[in-house]
Amino acid sequence: MQSGLVRPLPNMLPRTLFNAEHEAFRETVRKFYEKEVVPNIAKYETQQHVDRDLWNKAGAMGLLCATMPEEYGGYGVDRLYSMILIEEQAYAMDSSTGFSLHSDIVANYVNNFGNEDQKKKWLPKMASGEVITAIAMTEPGTGSDLQGVRTTAVLEGDDYVINGSKIFITNGYLCDMAIVVCKTGSNEKGSANLSLIMVEADRVGFSKGKPLNKIGMKGQDTCELFFDNVRVPKENLLGMEGMGFIMLMKELAWERMLVAIICQAGSEAAFAHTVQYTKDRKAFGKPIGTFQNSRFKLAELRTEIDFSRAYLDRCMELQLDEQLGVDAAAAAKYKISDMFSTVVDECLQLHGGYGYMLEYPIARAYIDNRANRIYAGTNEIMKELISRSL
Ligand SMILES: Cc1cc2nc3c(=O)[nH]c(=O)nc-3n(C[C@H](O)[C@H](O)[C@H](O)COP(=O)(O)OP(=O)(O)OC[C@H]3O[C@@H](n4cnc5c(N)ncnc54)[C@H](O)[C@@H]3O)c2cc1C
Repeated sequence: MQSGLVRPLPNMLPRTLFNAEHEAFRETVRKFYEKEVVPNIAKYETQQHVDRDLWNKAGAMGLLCATMPEEYGGYGVDRLYSMILIEEQAYAMDSSTGFSLHSDIVANYVNNFGNEDQKKKWLPKMASGEVITAIAMTEPGTGSDLQGVRTTAVLEGDDYVINGSKIFITNGYLCDMAIVVCKTGSNEKGSANLSLIMVEADRVGFSKGKPLNKIGMKGQDTCELFFDNVRVPKENLLGMEGMGFIMLMKELAWERMLVAIICQAGSEAAFAHTVQYTKDRKAFGKPIGTFQNSRFKLAELRTEIDFSRAYLDRCMELQLDEQLGVDAAAAAKYKISDMFSTVVDECLQLHGGYGYMLEYPIARAYIDNRANRIYAGTNEIMKELISRSL
């Protein structure tokens, strides 16, 4: 397998988001991916999950939950650090590590809605990598329509008793704790039925399926979770009963941004690989990059990618000021994930037959990218959200 490590080409409009401390952090993350992840991607893809000790190494280097407050094991830094982590993962063309879901989604739920005991119990161990986490919303019978969740949590004495199952859960196979979206109310109340309950993986009745056999992202341990009369103390409830839907809504704009960031950086990585390839590969006695079609295709892609970069970085500025609207974030997620699909398709074409071979990073990017248009809300749901703002 060829190394996916690549540096993006400079954008036509220079980026302005980062200071020297951010860039120093970027260097640390880059080295981590170069040394610890890239050499092992083939192994992760074969076993369908990363090694557990990779999480401990990431934690020891301060790469997990960095935005969490210092008293809970983080560094209290801004979300540009999350952006850098995701970008460097994409520039390494890695789709195995599920750090972002753990640090930028699950940790936010615990920090935003957990009580002091819950934060102290979970966040420091999440930051060190001792505890790996997942968020379990989707079920075999419902994905886009969260209100259709059928997993139930019934209060019996001081315990919730949970029954049901979840599917397509990122970090599911390795997780030590999952935040599970459960129905706690009666059928009539719709979204007011939903609650978030933290379930430890060693609870009796909690079992995991094998990592699912996906078309791409093969090193990512996406799996099914099953709950058979799982008893958890009522202290495991996050926030208030019946407030699950509202809590899930709070960070949705940010969660969509995470996907947009992956796709933007993934497009830049695929583009950089392809520019290099078209310089190296010769046909008819000259580099394929010298043909007018290749040059025009690359110019078009450069333009698409840079227009999108400007929009995304502006969204990020608004996100840092907590001013990013749901519609703007939905637009970033849908448009940039669509662009990523176009970019990898055009880039694969410029690789010719080698682009179809899995040992080439562009081939893996081609299949890995596809899920981005589906998770964190499908692109059709994003268009629903945008249209509601009209
Ligand atoms: C690799 C991967 C990782 C994932 N990780 C997680 C995770 O960690 N946790 C988790 O909970 N889930 C996860 N998911 C699940 C993901 O969030 C869902 O697959 C997604 O929300 C879509 O739900 P669904 O698959 O049930 O599709 P459905 O909701 O059945 O949708 C099927 C099709 O119908 C369309 N559709 C549905 N409703 C509408 C509508 N109102 N208007 C127009 N079109 C509509 C959809 O856009 C889609 O094209 C993951 C999925 C994948 C593939």
